[in-house]
Amino acid sequence: MIPYGKQEISQADIDSVLEVLQSDFLTQGPKVPEFESKVAEHVGAKHALAVNSATSALHIACMSLGLGPGDWLWTSPITFVASANCGLYCGAKVDFVDIDPKTYNMCPKALAAKLEQAEKSACLPKIVVAVHLCGQPCDMAEVHRLSKKYGFRVIEDASHAIGGKYRGEFIGNSRYSDITVFSFHPVKIITTAEGGMALTNDENLASRMNLLRSHGITRDPRLMTREADGPWYYQQIDLGFNYRMTELQAALGVSQMNRLDAFVARRHELAGRYNEILARLPVTTPWQHPDSYSGLHLYVIRLSLNEVDKSHREVFESLREQGIGVNLHYIPVHTQPYYESMGFNASDFPEAMAYYREAISLPMFHGMTYEQQDQVSSALEFSLV
Ligand SMILES: *Cc1c(COP(=O)(O)O)cnc(C)c1O
Repeated sequence: MIPYGKQEISQADIDSVLEVLQSDFLTQGPKVPEFESKVAEHVGAKHALAVNSATSALHIACMSLGLGPGDWLWTSPITFVASANCGLYCGAKVDFVDIDPKTYNMCPKALAAKLEQAEKSACLPKIVVAVHLCGQPCDMAEVHRLSKKYGFRVIEDASHAIGGKYRGEFIGNSRYSDITVFSFHPVKIITTAEGGMALTNDENLASRMNLLRSHGITRDPRLMTREADGPWYYQQIDLGFNYRMTELQAALGVSQMNRLDAFVARRHELAGRYNEILARLPVTTPWQHPDSYSGLHLYVIRLSLNEVDKSHREVFESLREQGIGVNLHYIPVHTQPYYESMGFNASDFPEAMAYYREAISLPMFHGMTYEQQDQVSSALEFSLV
């Protein structure tokens, strides 16, 4: 089976992890700060907080922005459930904004219209989570403009987008948002096995997230409510979690960062080639915004179902039967039973549902060969007739 995604591990990655295993620190040593600086410098953010997953990063991002009961968090229905669940963790309510049929990201016009309505009924969101689906950045300038007009905060869920650029600058510099989150799960662009990171230019948010990722405990005398009892002293000043990243993970991350640009360039090469070899098939290949350079975590096609006699499911099953590990990103979050029970109907977000009826993620990963790509293309052609 050709997988839809796969990590790329070099000897340098292995050596980097082994070195940590033989060192004094398996956790809370020098590698995590090194990884944080490396990512922060690369993308141009002031602060970076490494954690054990993007899900954890989203959670502490929401908490640091003060999300709580009575508040609303809005995101796209076409995302992994974690982009929405972070709101529920904080006791807030979650709602969605339909997608743009071309970019598959949250539609800025739909967002503007929904905000106008929400203002009238006094239920504006506190946080909007903008998800850069497949690595293609959202229209962040517009999201930022709306955030100033309506007074909400912005988190970029850039789990798919490290190494990509928006208007010539690296995603993660948080120019148009409060916090940006990356994921380092093995299918993503670089990996630390499990892992995530939150980036911000705001010192207070960074300090808050730093506390929350480690039990709400501080050893910084400036943050303490009274003088230390002695050199052993620490204070718990908030209710946090253990969301820390290990040294082993950070060592892998540091080493993977050395090849980030090459990883993204290879994805562009593969995507460009897919665009060519699939051009004559009844599918829509991904549209790329000219203002941006996608991280290209995923290569999603949409079937032109009116031009083929097969159903979406038949095509998908045929591909799997032919050894092509296709996937579907994503099942609209609002149709998940957990969300449905909050009162959402599938028809609430028609563009998301239209996407769901046609989308298929084709395999794309660093080590993929042209031969494997041709195999995918032939299998797809076969499945469509
Ligand atoms: C993978 C992913 C996450 C969660 O990442 P983890 O590191 O696995 O917690 C969140 N949002 C999106 C869009 C993702 O693709």
